[in-house]
Amino acid sequence: MFEKSTWIRLPRNVVVGHDVIEDVGAVVADTHLSGRPLIVTSPTPKAVAADPIVDLLEADGLDPAVTTIERANFAAVESVLEDARRADASYLMGVGGGKAIDIAKMAADEMGVGFISVPTAASHDGIVSGRGSVPEGDTRHSVAADPPIAVIADTGIIADAPWELTTAGCADIISNYTAVKDWRLANRLKNVEYSEYAGALSQMTAEMLVDNAASIKPGLEESAWVVVKALVSSGVAMSIAGSSRPASGAEHLFSHQLDRIAPGAALHGHQVGVGAIITEYLHSGESGAWRSVRDALASIEAPTSAAELGVDPDDVVTALTTAHEIRDRYTILGSGISDAAAVEAATKTGVI
Ligand SMILES: [Zn+2]
Repeated sequence: MFEKSTWIRLPRNVVVGHDVIEDVGAVVADTHLSGRPLIVTSPTPKAVAADPIVDLLEADGLDPAVTTIERANFAAVESVLEDARRADASYLMGVGGGKAIDIAKMAADEMGVGFISVPTAASHDGIVSGRGSVPEGDTRHSVAADPPIAVIADTGIIADAPWELTTAGCADIISNYTAVKDWRLANRLKNVEYSEYAGALSQMTAEMLVDNAASIKPGLEESAWVVVKALVSSGVAMSIAGSSRPASGAEHLFSHQLDRIAPGAALHGHQVGVGAIITEYLHSGESGAWRSVRDALASIEAPTSAAELGVDPDDVVTALTTAHEIRDRYTILGSGISDAAAVEAATKTGVI
Protein backbone atom coordinates (compact mmCIF):
# COMPACT_ATOMS: atom_id res chain seq x y z
CA MET A 1 0.00 0.00 0.00
CA PHE A 2 1.23 3.50 -0.78
CA GLU A 3 1.44 5.39 2.48
CA LYS A 4 3.60 8.38 1.74
CA SER A 5 2.18 11.84 2.31
CA THR A 6 3.61 15.29 2.45
CA TRP A 7 2.45 18.79 3.29
CA ILE A 8 4.21 21.69 1.64
CA ARG A 9 3.43 25.01 3.23
CA LEU A 10 4.48 28.07 1.27
CA PRO A 11 3.89 31.81 1.68
CA ARG A 12 0.80 32.86 -0.27
CA ASN A 13 2.12 36.24 -1.40
CA VAL A 14 5.74 37.26 -1.77
CA VAL A 15 5.98 40.90 -2.81
CA VAL A 16 9.48 42.20 -3.55
CA GLY A 17 10.50 45.57 -5.02
CA HIS A 18 10.86 49.29 -4.70
CA ASP A 19 8.25 50.97 -2.47
CA VAL A 20 6.21 47.76 -2.17
CA ILE A 21 5.57 48.68 1.45
CA GLU A 22 2.83 50.90 0.01
CA ASP A 23 1.04 47.72 -1.08
CA VAL A 24 0.62 46.55 2.53
CA GLY A 25 -3.15 47.19 2.53
CA ALA A 26 -3.63 45.30 -0.73
CA VAL A 27 -1.50 42.38 0.53
CA VAL A 28 -3.52 42.14 3.76
CA ALA A 29 -6.78 42.25 1.78
CA ASP A 30 -5.55 39.54 -0.59
CA THR A 31 -4.66 37.18 2.28
CA HIS A 32 -8.25 37.50 3.62
CA LEU A 33 -6.88 38.21 7.09
CA SER A 34 -9.42 40.19 9.04
CA GLY A 35 -9.62 41.94 12.37
CA ARG A 36 -6.89 43.82 14.13
CA PRO A 37 -3.21 43.37 13.29
CA LEU A 38 -0.50 43.63 15.94
CA ILE A 39 2.71 45.01 14.46
CA VAL A 40 5.83 43.66 16.19
CA THR A 41 8.87 45.82 15.55
CA SER A 42 12.09 47.12 17.11
CA PRO A 43 13.28 50.75 17.49
CA THR A 44 15.03 51.50 14.16
CA PRO A 45 12.68 49.53 11.87
CA LYS A 46 9.77 51.21 13.64
CA ALA A 47 10.74 54.61 12.28
CA VAL A 48 11.62 53.46 8.75
CA ALA A 49 8.86 50.91 8.17
CA ALA A 50 6.42 50.22 11.00
CA ASP A 51 5.23 53.83 11.44
CA PRO A 52 4.54 54.27 7.70
CA ILE A 53 2.72 50.90 7.69
CA VAL A 54 0.48 52.05 10.56
CA ASP A 55 -0.46 55.17 8.56
CA LEU A 56 -1.14 53.12 5.42
CA LEU A 57 -3.30 50.56 7.26
CA GLU A 58 -5.20 53.30 9.10
CA ALA A 59 -5.93 54.95 5.76
CA ASP A 60 -7.47 51.62 4.72
CA GLY A 61 -9.73 51.70 7.77
CA LEU A 62 -7.74 49.24 9.89
CA ASP A 63 -6.77 49.84 13.50
CA PRO A 64 -3.29 48.33 13.95
CA ALA A 65 -1.72 47.94 17.40
CA VAL A 66 2.05 48.24 17.73
CA THR A 67 4.53 46.67 20.12
CA THR A 68 8.27 47.41 20.16
CA ILE A 69 10.74 44.81 21.35
CA GLU A 70 14.32 45.57 22.35
CA ARG A 71 15.79 42.10 22.57
CA ALA A 72 15.19 38.72 20.98
CA ASN A 73 14.53 36.40 23.89
CA PHE A 74 11.82 34.27 25.38
CA ALA A 75 10.55 37.13 27.55
CA ALA A 76 9.95 39.16 24.38
CA VAL A 77 7.73 36.38 22.98
CA GLU A 78 5.76 36.36 26.25
CA SER A 79 5.31 40.13 26.20
CA VAL A 80 4.15 40.06 22.57
CA LEU A 81 1.59 37.36 23.49
CA GLU A 82 0.38 39.58 26.34
CA ASP A 83 0.15 42.64 24.06
CA ALA A 84 -1.72 40.61 21.45
CA ARG A 85 -4.27 39.51 24.06
CA ARG A 86 -4.71 43.04 25.32
CA ALA A 87 -5.09 44.46 21.81
CA ASP A 88 -7.40 41.60 20.80
CA ALA A 89 -5.18 41.09 17.74
CA SER A 90 -6.23 38.55 15.15
CA TYR A 91 -2.93 38.34 13.25
CA LEU A 92 0.67 39.50 13.64
CA MET A 93 3.02 41.43 11.39
CA GLY A 94 6.76 41.31 12.06
CA VAL A 95 8.50 44.47 10.83
CA GLY A 96 12.27 44.57 11.20
CA GLY A 97 15.51 42.65 10.88
CA GLY A 98 15.70 39.08 12.07
CA LYS A 99 14.79 39.90 15.66
CA ALA A 100 11.27 41.32 15.36
CA ILE A 101 10.38 38.77 12.70
CA ASP A 102 11.53 35.78 14.74
CA ILE A 103 9.63 36.99 17.81
CA ALA A 104 6.44 37.74 15.83
CA LYS A 105 6.66 34.37 14.07
CA MET A 106 7.00 32.47 17.35
CA ALA A 107 4.18 34.42 19.02
CA ALA A 108 1.88 33.88 16.00
CA ASP A 109 2.65 30.16 16.09
CA GLU A 110 1.83 30.03 19.80
CA MET A 111 -1.46 31.88 19.20
CA GLY A 112 -2.30 29.88 16.08
CA VAL A 113 -2.87 33.03 14.03
CA GLY A 114 -1.52 34.30 10.70
CA PHE A 115 1.79 36.07 10.35
CA ILE A 116 3.08 38.56 7.77
CA SER A 117 6.83 39.16 7.42
CA VAL A 118 8.09 42.64 6.52
CA PRO A 119 11.90 42.42 6.55
CA THR A 120 13.82 45.69 6.71
CA ALA A 121 17.15 43.90 6.20
CA ALA A 122 18.17 40.83 4.20
CA SER A 123 20.25 39.39 7.02
CA HIS A 124 19.15 35.72 7.15
CA ASP A 125 16.77 33.22 5.60
CA GLY A 126 14.43 33.25 8.61
CA ILE A 127 12.61 36.21 7.02
CA VAL A 128 10.81 33.87 4.62
CA SER A 129 10.88 30.51 6.37
CA GLY A 130 8.86 29.10 9.22
CA ARG A 131 12.02 28.48 11.18
CA GLY A 132 12.88 30.70 14.09
CA SER A 133 14.91 30.60 17.24
CA VAL A 134 15.71 32.81 20.21
CA PRO A 135 18.32 32.36 22.92
CA GLU A 136 17.00 30.90 26.16
CA GLY A 137 19.55 30.66 28.94
CA ASP A 138 22.62 29.08 27.37
CA THR A 139 20.58 27.21 24.79
CA ARG A 140 18.21 28.23 21.98
CA HIS A 141 14.51 27.78 21.77
CA SER A 142 13.60 26.86 18.21
CA VAL A 143 10.30 26.54 16.46
CA ALA A 144 9.32 25.03 13.17
CA ALA A 145 6.27 27.16 12.51
CA ASP A 146 4.31 27.72 9.32
CA PRO A 147 6.03 30.09 6.93
CA PRO A 148 4.64 33.63 6.79
CA ILE A 149 1.32 34.00 4.94
CA ALA A 150 2.86 36.95 3.11
CA VAL A 151 6.28 38.54 2.74
CA ILE A 152 6.63 42.22 1.86
CA ALA A 153 10.27 43.01 1.07
CA ASP A 154 10.79 46.66 0.12
CA THR A 155 14.15 46.77 -1.65
CA GLY A 156 14.42 50.55 -1.11
CA ILE A 157 14.30 50.06 2.67
CA ILE A 158 16.51 46.95 2.60
CA ALA A 159 19.18 48.69 0.50
CA ASP A 160 19.44 51.36 3.21
CA ALA A 161 20.07 48.81 5.97
CA PRO A 162 23.66 48.51 7.26
CA TRP A 163 25.75 46.76 4.60
CA GLU A 164 26.98 44.09 7.00
CA LEU A 165 23.41 42.82 7.37
CA THR A 166 23.24 42.22 3.62
CA THR A 167 26.61 40.45 3.52
CA ALA A 168 25.38 38.28 6.42
CA GLY A 169 22.33 37.30 4.36
CA CYS A 170 24.61 36.45 1.41
CA ALA A 171 26.86 34.32 3.61
CA ASP A 172 23.83 32.48 4.99
CA ILE A 173 22.90 31.56 1.40
CA ILE A 174 26.46 30.59 0.42
CA SER A 175 26.34 28.11 3.32
CA ASN A 176 23.60 26.22 1.45
CA TYR A 177 26.44 24.43 -0.40
CA THR A 178 27.70 22.68 2.71
CA ALA A 179 24.21 22.28 4.18
CA VAL A 180 23.18 20.24 1.12
CA LYS A 181 26.39 18.18 1.32
CA ASP A 182 25.62 17.40 4.97
CA TRP A 183 22.05 16.48 4.07
CA ARG A 184 23.21 14.07 1.35
CA LEU A 185 25.74 12.57 3.74
CA ALA A 186 23.04 12.05 6.38
CA ASN A 187 20.91 10.42 3.70
CA ARG A 188 23.70 7.99 2.77
CA LEU A 189 24.84 7.18 6.28
CA LYS A 190 21.71 7.53 8.39
CA ASN A 191 18.94 7.11 5.85
CA VAL A 192 17.66 10.62 6.57
CA GLU A 193 15.01 11.46 3.97
CA TYR A 194 16.48 13.59 1.19
CA SER A 195 14.50 15.63 -1.33
CA GLU A 196 16.26 15.92 -4.69
CA TYR A 197 14.11 18.89 -5.57
CA ALA A 198 14.70 20.84 -2.34
CA GLY A 199 18.42 19.98 -2.41
CA ALA A 200 18.80 21.12 -6.01
CA LEU A 201 16.84 24.32 -5.40
CA SER A 202 18.95 25.21 -2.37
CA GLN A 203 22.20 24.55 -4.20
CA MET A 204 21.06 26.48 -7.28
CA THR A 205 20.15 29.42 -5.03
CA ALA A 206 23.71 29.55 -3.68
CA GLU A 207 25.13 29.25 -7.22
CA MET A 208 22.98 32.11 -8.50
CA LEU A 209 24.09 34.31 -5.66
CA VAL A 210 27.76 33.54 -6.25
CA ASP A 211 27.32 34.13 -10.01
CA ASN A 212 25.82 37.53 -9.22
CA ALA A 213 28.42 38.43 -6.59
CA ALA A 214 29.78 41.25 -8.77
CA SER A 215 26.43 43.07 -8.66
CA ILE A 216 26.25 42.85 -4.87
CA LYS A 217 27.63 46.20 -3.75
CA PRO A 218 26.83 48.62 -0.90
CA GLY A 219 24.09 51.14 -1.65
CA LEU A 220 22.87 49.36 -4.79
CA GLU A 221 19.18 48.52 -4.61
CA GLU A 222 19.90 45.76 -7.15
CA SER A 223 21.91 43.99 -4.41
CA ALA A 224 18.92 43.98 -2.09
CA TRP A 225 16.87 42.50 -4.95
CA VAL A 226 19.34 39.68 -5.63
CA VAL A 227 19.75 38.78 -1.96
CA VAL A 228 16.03 38.90 -1.09
CA LYS A 229 15.17 36.68 -4.04
CA ALA A 230 17.81 34.19 -2.93
CA LEU A 231 16.50 34.22 0.65
CA VAL A 232 12.97 33.60 -0.67
CA SER A 233 14.19 30.72 -2.78
CA SER A 234 16.08 29.25 0.16
CA GLY A 235 12.93 29.53 2.27
CA VAL A 236 10.93 27.73 -0.42
CA ALA A 237 13.51 24.91 -0.43
CA MET A 238 13.00 24.53 3.34
CA SER A 239 9.21 24.54 2.88
CA ILE A 240 9.46 21.79 0.27
CA ALA A 241 11.74 19.72 2.48
CA GLY A 242 9.58 20.36 5.53
CA SER A 243 12.84 20.92 7.42
CA SER A 244 15.68 23.39 7.58
CA ARG A 245 18.03 20.71 6.17
CA PRO A 246 18.45 22.35 2.71
CA ALA A 247 19.92 25.46 4.33
CA SER A 248 21.30 24.28 7.64
CA GLY A 249 24.08 21.76 8.22
CA ALA A 250 27.24 21.56 10.29
CA GLU A 251 28.08 25.21 9.59
CA HIS A 252 24.84 26.15 11.38
CA LEU A 253 25.61 23.86 14.32
CA PHE A 254 29.01 25.57 14.53
CA SER A 255 27.35 29.00 14.56
CA HIS A 256 24.78 28.02 17.20
CA GLN A 257 27.62 26.73 19.35
CA LEU A 258 29.57 29.98 18.88
CA ASP A 259 26.45 31.84 20.06
CA ARG A 260 26.74 29.96 23.33
CA ILE A 261 30.52 30.26 23.71
CA ALA A 262 30.94 33.83 22.49
CA PRO A 263 27.46 35.40 22.62
CA GLY A 264 26.89 38.39 20.38
CA ALA A 265 30.35 38.26 18.80
CA ALA A 266 29.19 38.25 15.19
CA LEU A 267 26.11 38.07 12.98
CA HIS A 268 24.50 34.68 12.34
CA GLY A 269 25.19 34.75 8.58
CA HIS A 270 28.82 35.71 9.06
CA GLN A 271 29.36 32.86 11.54
CA VAL A 272 27.78 30.24 9.29
CA GLY A 273 29.86 31.53 6.36
CA VAL A 274 33.11 30.97 8.23
CA GLY A 275 31.76 27.64 9.46
CA ALA A 276 31.04 26.65 5.85
CA ILE A 277 34.69 27.23 4.84
CA ILE A 278 35.77 24.71 7.47
CA THR A 279 33.01 22.15 6.91
CA GLU A 280 33.64 22.29 3.15
CA TYR A 281 37.27 21.44 3.92
CA LEU A 282 36.09 18.54 6.10
CA HIS A 283 33.90 17.30 3.24
CA SER A 284 36.35 17.58 0.38
CA GLY A 285 39.81 18.11 1.85
CA GLU A 286 42.42 19.76 -0.32
CA SER A 287 40.28 19.59 -3.49
CA GLY A 288 39.99 23.36 -3.46
CA ALA A 289 36.24 23.44 -2.89
CA TRP A 290 36.74 25.23 0.43
CA ARG A 291 38.66 27.94 -1.43
CA SER A 292 35.61 28.58 -3.64
CA VAL A 293 33.48 29.04 -0.52
CA ARG A 294 36.06 31.39 1.02
CA ASP A 295 36.48 33.39 -2.21
CA ALA A 296 32.72 33.73 -2.63
CA LEU A 297 32.47 35.11 0.91
CA ALA A 298 35.44 37.44 0.38
CA SER A 299 33.96 38.78 -2.86
CA ILE A 300 30.89 40.07 -1.02
CA GLU A 301 33.02 41.38 1.88
CA ALA A 302 31.83 38.79 4.41
CA PRO A 303 34.29 37.61 7.08
CA THR A 304 36.47 34.58 6.27
CA SER A 305 38.44 34.25 9.51
CA ALA A 306 38.04 34.15 13.28
CA ALA A 307 39.79 37.53 13.50
CA GLU A 308 37.30 39.12 11.10
CA LEU A 309 34.45 37.61 13.11
CA GLY A 310 35.96 38.99 16.31
CA VAL A 311 36.08 35.49 17.78
CA ASP A 312 38.94 33.92 19.72
CA PRO A 313 40.69 31.05 17.81
CA ASP A 314 40.24 28.75 20.82
CA ASP A 315 36.50 29.40 20.72
CA VAL A 316 36.43 28.35 17.05
CA VAL A 317 38.09 25.05 17.94
CA THR A 318 35.79 24.45 20.91
CA ALA A 319 32.72 25.23 18.79
CA LEU A 320 33.92 22.78 16.11
CA THR A 321 34.56 19.93 18.52
CA THR A 322 31.28 20.35 20.43
CA ALA A 323 28.84 21.47 17.70
CA HIS A 324 27.56 17.93 17.10
CA GLU A 325 26.11 17.92 20.65
CA ILE A 326 23.63 20.70 19.91
CA ARG A 327 20.96 18.69 18.23
CA ASP A 328 20.26 15.36 16.70
CA ARG A 329 21.29 16.32 13.16
CA TYR A 330 23.85 14.15 11.44
CA THR A 331 26.51 16.12 9.54
CA ILE A 332 30.15 15.86 8.51
CA LEU A 333 30.99 16.44 12.20
CA GLY A 334 29.58 12.97 12.88
CA SER A 335 29.77 12.11 16.56
CA GLY A 336 32.41 14.79 17.07
CA ILE A 337 35.81 15.63 15.59
CA SER A 338 39.02 15.60 17.59
CA ASP A 339 40.74 18.70 18.85
CA ALA A 340 43.72 18.09 16.56
CA ALA A 341 41.48 17.67 13.50
CA ALA A 342 39.60 20.87 14.35
CA VAL A 343 42.85 22.82 14.74
CA GLU A 344 44.16 21.42 11.45
CA ALA A 345 40.97 22.24 9.50
CA ALA A 346 40.73 25.74 10.91
CA THR A 347 44.42 26.41 10.31
CA LYS A 348 44.62 25.00 6.79
CA THR A 349 41.64 27.11 5.73
CA GLY A 350 43.14 30.24 7.30
CA VAL A 351 40.22 30.64 9.67
CA ILE A 352 42.61 30.67 12.64
ZN1 LIG B 1 21.06 30.57 8.62
